Amino acid sequence: MSAPTVRSVDRVAPGVHFIEGPASNWVVLVGDSEVALIDAGYPGDLPLVEQSLREAAPGLPLTAIAVTHGHSDHIGSIRALLGTYPDARVYTGEAELPNVRRDEIHQVTVRDIVPHLAKPRFVRWIVHALRAGGLGDVAVRSVEAAPTELALAGHAVRAVPSIGHTPGHTLYELVDARAVATGDALVTGHAVSRRVGPQSLHPMFHSDVRAASQLAAELAGRYADWTLLPGHGALRRRGTSS
Ligand SMILES: [Zn+2]
Repeated sequence: MSAPTVRSVDRVAPGVHFIEGPASNWVVLVGDSEVALIDAGYPGDLPLVEQSLREAAPGLPLTAIAVTHGHSDHIGSIRALLGTYPDARVYTGEAELPNVRRDEIHQVTVRDIVPHLAKPRFVRWIVHALRAGGLGDVAVRSVEAAPTELALAGHAVRAVPSIGHTPGHTLYELVDARAVATGDALVTGHAVSRRVGPQSLHPMFHSDVRAASQLAAELAGRYADWTLLPGHGALRRRGTSS
């Protein structure tokens, strides 16, 4: 089996790179002398995350990682990255801290998945998730609460609570680029979905299905004229419909 590769790399704005990974996405923010990440893929995505940092910003140190939520497909490579960049700060929404530290776990369980095992899409997704280290220990103890306004590698970023997928899910507005990293509060596709375009994830992934579905619809409207950098699915550039 060949190693997974990224699906695409897009330069969204100066110093803003969106990476559509094998199954989940991350954003690289490049500054004058440092680089930052929003989310970090599965544990198995580490070589791809490192490659995207090298390609976007050769030689610059990683100083910050902003996390949308504490699922293994979004925080998976952080522990290893902190081994290389021990001074990097890790941020998430205050209510998400226990999930990123793994004091609590709000994540899809085997029990949630069993009813779907007759569907090939779900089986392919599970196989990928397991191969990518989805059941590994991904706790990040050093995570801290993100202030509402933060600078990530010099980019002005606004942290916005977006609760439903997890109890403290946080999305990040890149104000100057008019782009928003929506994490799993609003995605444009997913391995188990047939649809392409802004949508809520499959209910089995949400800790509060009702809140998550309502929020996804609300965010699709709120960010209709922003570039969407979703946690799953392709980039949707500002001004494109779908
Ligand atoms: Zn996800």
